[in-house]
Amino acid sequence: MTSIDCDIAILGSGFGGTLLAIIARRLGYSVALLERGVHPRFAIGESSTPLADFKLAAIADRFGLDWLKPFSKYGTWKATYPHLRCGLKRGFSFFRHEAGKPFTPHETNANALLVAASPDDARSDTHWFRADFDANLVERAIAAGAVYVDQLHVHTLLHENAWHLRGSRPDADIEIRAGFLVDATGDAQMLGQTLKLEPVAPANLRARSRALYSHFTGVARWHDVLQETHGPSATAAHTFPCDAAAQHQIIDGGWMWVLRFDHGVTSAGFSLDPERHPIRDGEAPEAEWQRLLNAYPSLARQFRDACAVRPFVRTGRLQRRLTQAAGPDWALLPHAAGFLDAWLSPGIAQTLCAVERLGRIMAEDWRTPRRTLRLAEYGQSVLNELEWVDEITGTCFACFDRFEVMTPVSMLYFVAAHYCEERERAGRAPPDAAFLLADDATYRQNAAELCRQALTVAANDAASFADQVRQALMPYNLCCLCDPAKQNLYPFTGTR
Ligand SMILES: Cc1cc2nc3c(=O)[nH]c(=O)nc-3n(C[C@H](O)[C@H](O)[C@H](O)COP(=O)(O)OP(=O)(O)OC[C@H]3O[C@@H](n4cnc5c(N)ncnc54)[C@H](O)[C@@H]3O)c2cc1C
Repeated sequence: MTSIDCDIAILGSGFGGTLLAIIARRLGYSVALLERGVHPRFAIGESSTPLADFKLAAIADRFGLDWLKPFSKYGTWKATYPHLRCGLKRGFSFFRHEAGKPFTPHETNANALLVAASPDDARSDTHWFRADFDANLVERAIAAGAVYVDQLHVHTLLHENAWHLRGSRPDADIEIRAGFLVDATGDAQMLGQTLKLEPVAPANLRARSRALYSHFTGVARWHDVLQETHGPSATAAHTFPCDAAAQHQIIDGGWMWVLRFDHGVTSAGFSLDPERHPIRDGEAPEAEWQRLLNAYPSLARQFRDACAVRPFVRTGRLQRRLTQAAGPDWALLPHAAGFLDAWLSPGIAQTLCAVERLGRIMAEDWRTPRRTLRLAEYGQSVLNELEWVDEITGTCFACFDRFEVMTPVSMLYFVAAHYCEERERAGRAPPDAAFLLADDATYRQNAAELCRQALTVAANDAASFADQVRQALMPYNLCCLCDPAKQNLYPFTGTR
């Protein structure tokens, strides 16, 4: 039996848990980082955003992790860590497909939306090839002095004066005693299960989706598919290359993400309304994938020569949220506290917000009477952010059949994101600011009313709804979004 005694045990060595382990070591705590699998390993959740980049840079600066900063921009990542694979993300692109018909660009761009997030490639976001990125962080955690135990099956988790974990590895039984426990196990929700934390009733979560995904080679560029069928004019007005994006291909009752890495691999997956796309008895994931592609000729073309390089993952409903995310001697990272959907890539940024916040509590109040209060605030903030992302995601999903309504609804996300980015750039972000203005009562109130209305706005009233959104968000709209003259094609207009 191997025994480990530590200040902080972190269950789960995704980038969230591992980065927190590195920060805790930097602050002088003894840390056990516990993983059920082995690195390098596949992980989903690959598309970063400017807010994620700001948080990564802030963590690097605050905790003296100079090596981390280059990961916060595509240019510095490629120059500093060329062996760690990633992809270029200049922004978000959306295309609305009709079943049985090839995608045809509309003359006023009514079936597409491009929102640039960066001024050029060097300063852009990245798609993280998680196998490389996470494994690299784990090496750094070990070098920083964290005790790393992989292939660990934790079979007993007791919470008395301290945390007592017992588990087994292929070569040994392990016993761990820790003063504080962080659940960074993502959808395994290890601690939520142990503490029997109450979940929000599934009926009260707005977004509804299940996922079907893999990694592929041979995925055609959407830019080429558009040009092949419609000539160069099809992409001439695009404000950035539409494949250097978190590409959102919207279909009836769902959407598909397409994220390209530089080494020829593409992450792609369908997120599907389980009621409109129930899993069919006896249909294998590969067959479902092909059937969905076949229903949308332009997607079938984009994936004509694609080859899955790993087994498909098919999930049940993705949405979940617990009603507590921290206690006096435990905390959940956001992905362990809840999840909505890959839509608009909020997960990495929210996780980094949470890691920074926990790191600051460790630095400032770990041994003071304020710790309990700060952890309670942390937990509330995580849950509030998840609820807010659910509101945006669920409302966008409810508008998939009215793309002209979904477009202004998506501005609730983009305006908030750009506002927070500008605040970060100007150094004006409050230290405990919640992710994406989740803690801004005025913004949330306006958004709640707009989300309520969006559910019933008819497609032919979309222009006046879009104007209402524009006016309601005006005080926050620092980057010229919601402008009908742009015809859904937004260049980067933030401060450079
Ligand atoms: C389908 C899908 C698509 C997504 N797309 C995006 C996106 O494009 N952009 C974005 O920002 N976010 C996305 N996300 C969210 C993103 O995956 C998460 O926000 C992110 O992975 C959280 O990182 P983490 O380190 O907290 O947890 P995870 O990455 O989930 O890591 C959890 C770790 O815990 C380990 N583990 C699990 N159980 C145990 C156990 N019992 N004991 C020990 N270890 C355990 C796992 O092996 C894993 O290493 C997506 C999520 C899903 C489900």
